[in-house]
Amino acid sequence: MSPPSPPSSVEVSTSDQFLGLFNYGRRAIELVWSTSRKLTSVLAVLTVVAGLLPAAAAYVGRLIVDSVILASEHPGGDVAAALRFVALEAGIILALTAAQRGISMTTSLLRALLGERVNVMILEKALQLELPQFEDSEFYDKLTRARRQASARPLSLVRRTFGLIQNGISLASYAALLFQFSPWAVLIVVAAGFPVFFAEAKFSGDAFRLFRWQSQETRRQMYLESVLAREDYAKEVRILGLGPLLLKRYRDIFENLFRDDRSLTMRRGIWGYVLGTLGTAAFYGSYAWIAATAVYGHITLGEMTMYLVVFKQGQSAVSANLSAVGGMYEDNLYLSTLYEYLGQSTKSAEGTATEGTRPGDGVRFEDVAFTYPGASTPALNGVSFHVPPGTTLALVGESGSGKSTLIKLLATLYQPDTGRITLDGRDLREWDRKLLLRRIGIMFQDFSKFQFTVGENLGVGDVERFEDRELWRVAATRGMAAPFIDGMPETYDTQLGRWFKGGRELSGGQWQKIALSRAFMRSNADILVFDEPTAAMDAAAEAAVFDHVRGLASDKMTILISHRFSTVRMADRIVVVEEGRVTEVGSHDELMKLDGIYARLFSLQARAYR
Ligand code: ADP
Repeated sequence: MSPPSPPSSVEVSTSDQFLGLFNYGRRAIELVWSTSRKLTSVLAVLTVVAGLLPAAAAYVGRLIVDSVILASEHPGGDVAAALRFVALEAGIILALTAAQRGISMTTSLLRALLGERVNVMILEKALQLELPQFEDSEFYDKLTRARRQASARPLSLVRRTFGLIQNGISLASYAALLFQFSPWAVLIVVAAGFPVFFAEAKFSGDAFRLFRWQSQETRRQMYLESVLAREDYAKEVRILGLGPLLLKRYRDIFENLFRDDRSLTMRRGIWGYVLGTLGTAAFYGSYAWIAATAVYGHITLGEMTMYLVVFKQGQSAVSANLSAVGGMYEDNLYLSTLYEYLGQSTKSAEGTATEGTRPGDGVRFEDVAFTYPGASTPALNGVSFHVPPGTTLALVGESGSGKSTLIKLLATLYQPDTGRITLDGRDLREWDRKLLLRRIGIMFQDFSKFQFTVGENLGVGDVERFEDRELWRVAATRGMAAPFIDGMPETYDTQLGRWFKGGRELSGGQWQKIALSRAFMRSNADILVFDEPTAAMDAAAEAAVFDHVRGLASDKMTILISHRFSTVRMADRIVVVEEGRVTEVGSHDELMKLDGIYARLFSLQARAYR
């Protein structure tokens, strides 16, 4: 794997971004302000105080030296004056230290509050997004970038803005003092900082482009990390001996990333040093100048001391300011990833209908076609069928023929490209989505196994009655999970999974019963969908479950996907799906008479069991 070099032309041109330095500044400040007004105000006040005090200290320093000299030149002179100034300077420094401590304390508190706030914003946005966006790798990169870097940036931007103000105040006060010595000295202080600044700005732009470019690789690395370290992969990783292979991949990715990071760090460091020596040269040049002026008696020793302090501190204030501007530029770049992600458009206008035009009509697929985003062939094409209330429909077909896709469309996880799906005569898109989903109870083939308690694993089936213990029991009885749950030591409070203390693992068939019961949590749902609900059970158990479900759901619409024809034959209507198309529809007897695919597959399986 040779590392591709980072692209030279990127979405963000440096000059545009530079002009837009404050693009996100206002939003960042608003965010920080609204997170805590009190802390932000305290921070602002301390910033001004910390900005003014250093120049005051330098000025008092001058008074000390001058009064010491005065006192020493006149024996029996005023010692008390010098000591008073020393005490004053000590007081100023104490106040300055207090202000700086205060700044770092408020910043820590704000950082914690803000980090949580931004993470919640990111997660809330994630919840609003549609499934297709989650399956889009570019989108995933955005999400990763936002999560990795963006949460610390708003505060950083605000701190730098305040730092800029603080150093600006210091600098103005230094400049006022230094100006008395020579306006040229002021100019030298400011000019000597610029080369470092331009180097910093350039390198922070490079670092950002590298970060963007690396996000895909970083994500790959994170994925490998989870495969190597998570319990649900551990079994296969061990048995198949995948560890060394995956670890090698992980390290290769790191090495590629590190190579680029290292090169940038080296360039940044070397240029920073070279250009920084200009500043040192400027300082010692001016030192010589100020010293000579003092020797010739044009300034007092106290003034010389003050100018040297002011010059040195002025220089660091300039470079601090310039690097703050550079840092703000960098923060701005990273914030752009956060706002780019948060600005991701969410779903189109939602429907509002609460009832159908033909109540009691049930579910209809009308000439539905659908292609997954990025796929070249349609997963469904011209699919039509009808499920009236009180009937059971079975979907059969090979793996990959499109059965699960039908269900995902019914659950509005995706929208048909053409054609429509109706409930009670009304297009699903026109329905109030919440209300619609409340009418559908689904058990997915790849249902989620939450590392929660047994009861909560059922409760997720209906968030409004998440903790309803009575309903847990009812649902578990319907889903045939109650007997084994009652046999567990803590019954419904047993922790499932291995992530948390005391967790228990269930067998595949037991998990399926949990998932089946979960679908029954929606006690008011009149559309029940089971995508291979019983694949991990034996044929007899499956038949029993299905019989049981049919008994419970006599007035409901039930859609079932199964590969077991012994179960499928019990359905009122059977739809055969092949390569995204419906090829046969009818009851078991009708399809057997038709003597087509269904009849052939049925006989094949029946023979195997005989
Ligand atoms: P079945 O449930 O009949 O086994 P699916 O409905 O899962 O089949 O899949 C139908 C087709 O759509 C397959 O070719 C599969 O590769 C494709 N497919 C399924 N899910 C996705 C997805 N999320 N993105 C792209 N293609 C998919």
